[in-house]
Amino acid sequence: MPPPVVRFAPSPTGLLHVGNVRAALLNWLYARRYGGKFILRLDDTDRQRSRPEFEAAIEGDLTWLGLGWDIKERQSDRLAHYDRARDTLVASGRLYPCHETPEELEFRRRRLLAQGRPPVYDRAALKLDDTARRKLEAEGRKPHWRFKLDPQEVRWDDLVRGAQHVDEASQSDPVLVRADGSYLYSFTSVVDDLDFAITHVIRGEDHVTNTGAQIQMFQALGGPVPAFAHLPLLVDAAGGGLSKRTGSLSIADLRERGTEPMAITALLARLGTADPVEPVTSLEPLIDTVDFARVGRAAARFSEEELAHLSARTLHAMPYDAVRARLSAEINEALWLAVRGNLTTLDDAMLWQQVVAGPIVPVLEDAPFLAEAADKLPVEPWDEATWKGWTSGLVGSSGRKGRALFHPLRLALTARETGPEMAKLLPLIGRAKAEARLRGQAA
Ligand code: GLU
Repeated sequence: MPPPVVRFAPSPTGLLHVGNVRAALLNWLYARRYGGKFILRLDDTDRQRSRPEFEAAIEGDLTWLGLGWDIKERQSDRLAHYDRARDTLVASGRLYPCHETPEELEFRRRRLLAQGRPPVYDRAALKLDDTARRKLEAEGRKPHWRFKLDPQEVRWDDLVRGAQHVDEASQSDPVLVRADGSYLYSFTSVVDDLDFAITHVIRGEDHVTNTGAQIQMFQALGGPVPAFAHLPLLVDAAGGGLSKRTGSLSIADLRERGTEPMAITALLARLGTADPVEPVTSLEPLIDTVDFARVGRAAARFSEEELAHLSARTLHAMPYDAVRARLSAEINEALWLAVRGNLTTLDDAMLWQQVVAGPIVPVLEDAPFLAEAADKLPVEPWDEATWKGWTSGLVGSSGRKGRALFHPLRLALTARETGPEMAKLLPLIGRAKAEARLRGQAA
């Protein structure tokens, strides 16, 4: 197989959300797995709704997720290519002008429905002669342009959905060029996919309905037809469509909340497959296992709780080198390894750094016992075995054990009810601060 060329084609009319990032991710993983190219294509032909700030946000989100691109293109830079392809289709009789107003089309649609017939465009425009057409144009009507479908069954082997077929005889000829001369996405997408030699179109299931007509456009423009992989939609835990809130859950929101980017990619790569969702600390294991044959046809369940949980698990397994650049300089490897298992978000690490470095105001539950514990602190150097040796000694002298022994020590040493293993924290706190805290001094 020659290396694949794939593209992720968001419209810069809003922020990326989990649904479209799943398409981005699968494109990216597929390109990486087979040594291909990943193109970021900005579908910005809708001049009114496309914004440079959304383009910047999309690039920022993809970069944050680790999904860099090999080539970036903007549809608004490629209008001359669309004009040429339009002229090709007009010359071959596959694109024809239509002068109906929306009201006329709506009227005909209703009439067909009332007669119990499918509301398919009747190609009346194809029957107009030049005189009739000139007359309409003299009235000031500007044509829109429809693609003349070949009334045949179109088949493709979808890499996710399996064998697909659609009978184009039962479809309306799609409009590709609006009356103002602007192009519809379904057309510009095909022109770009041809020009960039896209081998696989990997996108959401909401585009399945365009695929039959698009295959005919590829053929009409003389190009090869790429392979298609349509990813099932995401649904919530109850199996319903994603709620408005979840459905619009943007990557920016998730980042704001401290979600780990690697948790987002780990979850989205496995969603809808039978493979277990496991935390990862790099994208490599996801690359090695990406496979459309493993993506089920049923809708994939997305849960915010599962993502939050996976995000925490991702931190718990994260090696120091993988996070070092994102941590403040005071957090060294020993501290990271001591606290990572207790983190919900990376920012919590700073909290524990402050607990270790102090000053904190200790909480004293039982001052005489704590003073005795201070007296018995061993001399340094300390390591992870220090805590056990010290507290075992205290069992004999104080008669305490279990929670009665450990809880007051933790409270005095950290001013917190719970937290990372004390065996790991104690050597980081050090003898001077530990002694002061046990004696009730802020340190
Ligand atoms: N701009 C389209 C979208 O955002 C791209 C669809 C496709 O990948 O073909 O849905």
